Amino acid sequence: MKPDALLYPAPKGLYCQIGDFFIDPVQPVERALITHGHSDHARAGHGQVLATRETLDIMRIRYGDGFCGTSQSVELGERLTLDGVEVGFHPAGHVLGSAQISVRANGTRIVISGDYKRRRDPTCAGFEPVACDVFITEATFGLPVFHHPDDRAETRKLLTSLTQFPERTHVVGAYALGKAQRVIALLREAGYHQPIFIHGALQRLCDYYQSQGIDLGELRPATLAADDKQDFRGTIVIGPPAAFADRWSRRFADPIAIFASGWMLIRQRAKQRGVELPLVISDHCDWAELTQTITEIAPGEVWVTHGREEALVRWCELQGIAARPLHLVGYDDEGE
Ligand SMILES: [Zn+2]
Ligand SMILES: [Zn+2]
Repeated sequence: MKPDALLYPAPKGLYCQIGDFFIDPVQPVERALITHGHSDHARAGHGQVLATRETLDIMRIRYGDGFCGTSQSVELGERLTLDGVEVGFHPAGHVLGSAQISVRANGTRIVISGDYKRRRDPTCAGFEPVACDVFITEATFGLPVFHHPDDRAETRKLLTSLTQFPERTHVVGAYALGKAQRVIALLREAGYHQPIFIHGALQRLCDYYQSQGIDLGELRPATLAADDKQDFRGTIVIGPPAAFADRWSRRFADPIAIFASGWMLIRQRAKQRGVELPLVISDHCDWAELTQTITEIAPGEVWVTHGREEALVRWCELQGIAARPLHLVGYDDEGE
């Protein structure tokens, strides 16, 4: 069958008419399959949600018990049938519980990557390439200029700064789901075993990662009450971007502003945020990873979604692979 008859972009998101379900819909729908817990992909208010157990847990933590009508957890590697459409969940290597979703009917298979990366990540299962007719890829960093450095080297920059400036508080901005836990895990792998102080907004997700066997070491609340003159000099404090922006970070003793994001590759963005020490740590593919993944999977066709779509479409065409942008709206490429 023609891939468009199996799955197509509708205003609420990618829609499979035969199976009557949406993937990562941006508005409430009857039946939603969710790739991962980031808020632009996993929204509250759907009738039925199918996702990995971890993604369902993360949605419950973020939105509360009533985040959907009913939910069904799907194991990575598991296949199930929805109204004649075979659906599978495969590891995406993006954040804990993240999955690519494959959809197959009448001999045609489409894989929706959600968000993904190819680098090793101590906090989640690694990406597995799945053979398919159509590969739908994100393109957050879909320009040849994007090259993400080795995350271990970036982590060492933070540890070096800590030794060089032991009198300063090292305040790190990192997204609450995935990035914060990965930065902590990378610090532990690099041999940093001091307590790490976290903003209250990270507590439940960090607790959840720990409950799933991801060792983040000793975490303490970064509570800074007016009557409490606790000194954070020489420590690492991690907070979400919102807290980082609202001057929360400047309440600490002589803070050094650090931010962990793929966007830190762009000097201008780091400057705008007042970041002194940018750490280029991304949970998305860079250009080389995107193109290598497409080469490896060798799909008949590539559909490109949220990010810099045109360059990747052009690259595919130059390789003789049919490609087109999907122009899906509602996904936030800042939230990396
Ligand atoms: Zn994401
Ligand atoms: Zn995304």
